[in-house]
Amino acid sequence: KVVTRFAPSPTGHLHIGGARTAIFNWLLARHFGGTFLLRIEDTDQERSLQEYTDSILASMRWLGLDWDGDLIYQSRRFDIYNGYIDRMLETGHAYWCECTPEEVEQMRETARERGLKPKYDGRCRERGLGPGPGRVVRLKAPLDGRVVFEDVVKGTLAFDAAELDDMVLRRSDGTPTYNMAVVVDDATMGVTHVLRGDDHVSNTPKQVLIYQALGLPLPVFGHVPMILGPDKKKLSKRHGARAVIEYEQDGLLPQALVNYLVRLGWSFGDQEIFALQELVEKFTTDNLNSAPAAFDPDKLQWLNAHYLRETPVDELARLAAPFVKAEGFDVAPERLAALAPLFRERASNLADLAKVMRFMLVDAAALEHDPAAVAKALTAEGKAHVAALRGLLEKAGPFDKATLEKVVHDYVEQGGLKFKQVGPPLRVALAGSLGGPGLPEIMEVLGRAETLARLDRAAA
Ligand code: GLU
Repeated sequence: KVVTRFAPSPTGHLHIGGARTAIFNWLLARHFGGTFLLRIEDTDQERSLQEYTDSILASMRWLGLDWDGDLIYQSRRFDIYNGYIDRMLETGHAYWCECTPEEVEQMRETARERGLKPKYDGRCRERGLGPGPGRVVRLKAPLDGRVVFEDVVKGTLAFDAAELDDMVLRRSDGTPTYNMAVVVDDATMGVTHVLRGDDHVSNTPKQVLIYQALGLPLPVFGHVPMILGPDKKKLSKRHGARAVIEYEQDGLLPQALVNYLVRLGWSFGDQEIFALQELVEKFTTDNLNSAPAAFDPDKLQWLNAHYLRETPVDELARLAAPFVKAEGFDVAPERLAALAPLFRERASNLADLAKVMRFMLVDAAALEHDPAAVAKALTAEGKAHVAALRGLLEKAGPFDKATLEKVVHDYVEQGGLKFKQVGPPLRVALAGSLGGPGLPEIMEVLGRAETLARLDRAAA
């Protein structure tokens, strides 16, 4: 059974790199019908904040990444980690060390002077010390040989054991260290696959040593390359290294961000657009790319435009609601679902969508009229057409698109008119300007009362 996890540290909002890692792990678990765990790595109690945990969870929900079981907080599991450290002390895989930080720094300095890898020199390894104030617990790491593990992205990775330190497992204040906590969690939670950013690749040999000391099997590791900027350098804030929440606030659709991020590190032939269900079906670690991908804001916008058009209207209405609210309107979901499809092709994101449909949401009296459009279309003749249509529309049968289209059409025909004499004044009356969706659609969604009110105002 496949068990994956996403393990953010709550020291900031969820950024796109972390989001991509979360998506990969989520997809792998869902593909195999396995389990996806969410673990908050808050062992650094000074830098971890509850508000960041809340924000990360909100972003996970927004992206549609549901997790299985309870949320796990490392800060509540110190006793468990310490239990395993005690076990390592008993089996001789760890030892007490009383060297002070200054002494350890001195050892590193000496090693550096000799041109060696700076590390703790192991002087307490064989002293058989017990607990005591100021003492830490260290791993009794192998002194030679290779630390080897399989990486599904990078291939087999091997490190010289001699390069690795007898790392601290428990600090002098009794708290377990980061790598210790991660290994105990991954091992005890049955995690089978660890996909994470390759900024963690130097932690992995250390973690492997802890697994080995505990006699526990290794998971499959996969270290995905960092997302680069369009300039192939480290992704900067200006180039898109932003928090998921910022994209959300800008009005991006979550499906667009998920689709975009998955393709930034995974491919399936040259297919670009994937529905979520399709990703679940197709995602495995086989097609994770080992070369870093560059962030391309244009492609993200292109995908966003695609999803604006393709998202089912009810879903689109739900996503647009907060933006419509921010424009100052409380609109019932059904009405939004009727409105949104008229404007989805005219907007590049949800914030934009809410803005372009503003004119539909105000009252007739508050509708802004573009003076240039008024001067051009609402002439005396134009007003007369608006007034005449008002009379016909008041009596028109069902107030639906087909009927309204016919009313306008017949009026033009029977008067021996041209549409361009009638359409523009009607449009300015209804929309306040000369652009926008089709007139019958606008009238249908406005409804009879609002339509007549707008025509009355324009004809006056
Ligand atoms: N807490 C780590 C981070 O936020 C993740 C480590 C891991 O996935 O093993 O970068």
